Amino acid sequence: MGSDDRDQTSSVTVMTVTDAWLRCTARAIHERRLWLTELDAAIGDGDHGINLDRGFRELQRRIESGLLGGDEAGAVLEGAGRALISTVGGASGALYGRGFQRAGAALLGPVGAERTQRDGRSREERAVIAFGAAVGAIIALGRASTGEKTMLDALVPARAAFEAAVGAGAALAVAARRAAEAAEAGAEATIPLVATKGRASYLGERSIGHLDPGAVSSALLLRALADVAAEE
Ligand code: ADP
Ligand code: MG
Repeated sequence: MGSDDRDQTSSVTVMTVTDAWLRCTARAIHERRLWLTELDAAIGDGDHGINLDRGFRELQRRIESGLLGGDEAGAVLEGAGRALISTVGGASGALYGRGFQRAGAALLGPVGAERTQRDGRSREERAVIAFGAAVGAIIALGRASTGEKTMLDALVPARAAFEAAVGAGAALAVAARRAAEAAEAGAEATIPLVATKGRASYLGERSIGHLDPGAVSSALLLRALADVAAEE
């Protein structure tokens, strides 16, 4: 996709990408639910894959039955966040749910999509706003930072890579691919870390040598976005 494609700012395009992304994520989580659960069994309570699969299947059901979706990405993300909070449970339900809600609110709010669209911002720039709001909300709710063996070890470098790519003029597909690569590297880099937040922190040094399940699921979300954007 060339940089000229950046100017596709119609809400229809945004809606299509958002819905397609949520559905693609639901499939990816469903396929890897046992692995995610195994990862969580090693350093947590073994429910991460089951929890996320329940939540994303519900999102998929809502999209397919017309309960979720529409021509405004902000509303879709906010609705997805609300659904995740009520169906996923556990730390990750609250964290992902809040992240999606705030991403949606950032697009809907006074400094969000409706205004910025009029200001001539591209969908890539609006995606940067949404991504930044999501990660900021997860940091605020979980009070964690990078290096604590959580989803933030994938999300924070992914956000930086995404912003840098968009800042350099990359189209969504390229920026999302860079974000997915950064998230996958970040998830891999959780193996030697000691968990200091969440349930895995109860293990202390025994959490060393394992992938963090939340960092892995975050990388799956971003890989799904990269796949969907590449297929546009
Ligand atoms: P629970 O620990 O309640 O069973 P899950 O198993 O669904 O929840 O999710 C665990 C994941 O949540 C961890 O792998 C980690 O990535 C993430 N997590 C836990 N606590 C925090 C936190 N305070 N900040 C960011 N992420 C966190
Ligand atoms: Mg768990």
